[in-house]
Amino acid sequence: MNISLYNTLTKKVELFTPVQPGHAKVYSCGPTVYNHAHIGNMRAFLFADLLQRVLRVVGQYNVHWVMNITDIDDKTIRDSKVGSDKWLAEMGEQSGNPNADLSTFTKYYESKFVEDITKLGIEATHFISMPRATEFIPAMQELIRNIVRNGFGYVAEGSVYFNLNAWRDADSYGKLFQVDFGNFREGVRIDADEYERESVSDFVLWKATKDGEPYWDFEFDGEHLPGRPGWHIECSAMGKELLGLPFDIHTGGVDLRFPHHEDEIAQSKAGYGVEPASFWCHNEFLEVEGKKMSKSLGNFFTLHDLLEKGIDALDIRFAMMSAHYQSVFNFTFDGITAAHKARTRVQDFIYDVWSANGTEHIDVQSVRTSVFGELANDVHTPKALAQLFGFINKTNPTTLNEQSKQELLAFFTELNNVFNVWQISSRPEVIIEIPEDVIALAQQRWQAKKDKNFALSDSLRQQITERGYVVKDTKEGFEVVKE
Ligand code: AMP
Ligand code: ZN
Repeated sequence: MNISLYNTLTKKVELFTPVQPGHAKVYSCGPTVYNHAHIGNMRAFLFADLLQRVLRVVGQYNVHWVMNITDIDDKTIRDSKVGSDKWLAEMGEQSGNPNADLSTFTKYYESKFVEDITKLGIEATHFISMPRATEFIPAMQELIRNIVRNGFGYVAEGSVYFNLNAWRDADSYGKLFQVDFGNFREGVRIDADEYERESVSDFVLWKATKDGEPYWDFEFDGEHLPGRPGWHIECSAMGKELLGLPFDIHTGGVDLRFPHHEDEIAQSKAGYGVEPASFWCHNEFLEVEGKKMSKSLGNFFTLHDLLEKGIDALDIRFAMMSAHYQSVFNFTFDGITAAHKARTRVQDFIYDVWSANGTEHIDVQSVRTSVFGELANDVHTPKALAQLFGFINKTNPTTLNEQSKQELLAFFTELNNVFNVWQISSRPEVIIEIPEDVIALAQQRWQAKKDKNFALSDSLRQQITERGYVVKDTKEGFEVVKE
């Protein structure tokens, strides 16, 4: 099926046409590994996963998916420094070597990130690469050299900056996001990785080393510039190295449109002569109970916090996927309960289809076409699920004939390759664990019976019943079941 996507670059829903027919190359801005990702971040990664699965399953593309790991930036440096109160015992001793400590610190959070996304149903095998920024420093340096040589960058006090004014004279800036140049201050330089739109100015490509911070050597036209890359240059270089330019789709949360993605476009075009991607897809924010998620409001959740409360990770996945990625997602506990119910409703239907044994024929192709049609239309999961529930509500799964049953199971297998929250199987037998003390009572009762002490055996049976279990005599001995 043809896929259409809203493209932030053109502000329109457009037919997706890849650079290389049959292949979809997707770059997703990944996590900055200085902390446990919160569920807002998870929305961005779940959207990227949903999109690449729709491309695979509905669009039949061969997907090349890259999600980077930002393991060098202002925050990772700040929190891995000697004496940081963010350094955890599990990370071992701090070595005092800033590069080594940065690596230990970020690898710890990278492994937590991989654990989290795995629980959320994102499959590691779907990535062609999860590149660490620190492993692509030479490619970033090469790009910085190109930018300066092409006249769009300059060296100042050991750092290298992007010359926004020179770039704006030659090309454009602000394609994704309406940038207000009213406050543009020529010659003002920004060193921070993240900044407000009010402070649009020359941004840093390479930062001069500071005492006690990690650094890499950089020989630049005879100058020695030890330092480290700015955040934006990382994605420009990794996208080109791993996918080639231009690739097809770049994803991230709406907050990344400016400055991160604007700067990425400017850098890639200024240095490589090519824009990174033809489609830019941005997910809206996740809010908690109607408020922006923040640590100070105490409404900040990591995945671990939610699992501790007994929530199933797949209900979180399903809840987030049930909303359209371009609308604000309001996270509530009631919403998770509703998602659990809806997911279970579909699961029960699948179990019933599995055991179908009737004569009724249904048109599976038409439900498949309508559900996939909605997914193909800008990944509209709420409309796709509405189609699915409309079908489920009017279908009796147990009366289906063999052909309809097989077609329906094949459709649910495909659909689950997108949602990844169901089991396509028969209803599993529920195994009830009998507590050890109840088994001990049953054994004592069996012994009392053999001893013909019926008063004791009756009283033991009574105790077992009071615990909510039933003991039955069988040919081989006895059996305990839940009442
Ligand atoms: P970071 O690790 O801060 O670079 O963010 C990783 C991803 O999470 C980026 O794509 C952000 O746009 C996205 N993101 C951050 N906060 C939220 C939120 N509350 N809702 C949705 N996406 C978010
Ligand atoms: Zn990025």
